[in-house]
Amino acid sequence: MTTNIVGMDLAEMKAMLGPALPAFRSRQLYEAVYKNRVSSIDDISNFPKDLRASLGQSHSLALPEVQSRFDSVDGTQRYLLKLEDGKTVETVLMPEGERYTFCISSQVGCPVNCQFCLTALMGLERNLSAGEIVGQILKVAALNGLETSIDRLNIVMMGQGEPLLNLPNVIRATRILLDENGVGFSPRRVTVSTSGILPKMLELAKEPVRPKLAISLNASNEEQRQEIVPITRKYHLKDLMEVCRNYPLRSWEKLTFEYVLLKDVNDTDADARRVAKLVSNINCKVNLIALNPGPGIAFETPTPERVHNFQEIVQRAVPCFVRRPRGLDVYAACGQLKRMELTQISERPGTSA
Ligand code: SAH
Ligand code: SF4
Repeated sequence: MTTNIVGMDLAEMKAMLGPALPAFRSRQLYEAVYKNRVSSIDDISNFPKDLRASLGQSHSLALPEVQSRFDSVDGTQRYLLKLEDGKTVETVLMPEGERYTFCISSQVGCPVNCQFCLTALMGLERNLSAGEIVGQILKVAALNGLETSIDRLNIVMMGQGEPLLNLPNVIRATRILLDENGVGFSPRRVTVSTSGILPKMLELAKEPVRPKLAISLNASNEEQRQEIVPITRKYHLKDLMEVCRNYPLRSWEKLTFEYVLLKDVNDTDADARRVAKLVSNINCKVNLIALNPGPGIAFETPTPERVHNFQEIVQRAVPCFVRRPRGLDVYAACGQLKRMELTQISERPGTSA
């Protein structure tokens, strides 16, 4: 059994290489793994041969493996990636003209029980390590020959999981992803999305190196949010908006509110007016997404006209966009790909769910 180097920061690599080696060796290793993205220790060309051999005995550069891949007609690639312990997570790559957005996972499953979300049905299996979070990017970038230090790539942590309930690993991964000597993403291009874990939002705000923040609002008043996003019973909408109003934005930054539209539940004109009021004094934009339906989800998708009317009302207060659902033909929506696989497996004769 070898120890995986992917996910280690520079200090950890230094400690791992030991005091006998000069400090520049850890920098070479760090750059080889994250900047040049070599796929094996043997390919670290500026390491002497004997160092490569001895390091290779005890360590590896392991990335998640592709268990399955689905390509949509719209160009979206959905991957189910297998981790070292055999568990799987979803990673999605969405090309849009010259740009690409990686949608990555932060946990296997999710403990937050949002009523419209397929990941919620899995419960939480475990947190991802920093290496598994970074590994999703390295793997999918390598498969597509993408250079990560360019400005055309975005990352959103909107796959499986609640990133702020795995904050230490999300921060460790973010530091590596945003380090110009590391993977080299711009801080303007990496976003974490939260269902509203207030104490963790306050912690994130204090981080010197942090991604941008999106908040999944998903309801227009306290009562409705408690129904749809039960964590609101613990972290109230009123307090969430207070934290958002006081969130320390950088000069170039806006908050993003995500709002999943559920037919006849949170999609009326009155809801739109309440949303507009809630966010009107915040430097933000609102992204609307019509529900991606799925098995076991007791909600319906509103019509495009309803979505449009909702957008028109919110837009009077702040910029408001409708997010185009991507990759619908290859199982869209948060958690859906994995859920589909589980369903297929559990439906095989002789196996139980
Ligand atoms: N746990 C985090 C990030 C992952 S979910 C969060 O909740 O923000 C990413 C986004 O997908 C959230 O905005 C969530 O509201 C949305 N989402 C979940 N299930 C969905 C569905 N069935 N249809 C449309 N959007 C969905
Ligand atoms: Fe978890 Fe986000 Fe799904 Fe809610 S919407 S269950 S927080 S992944």
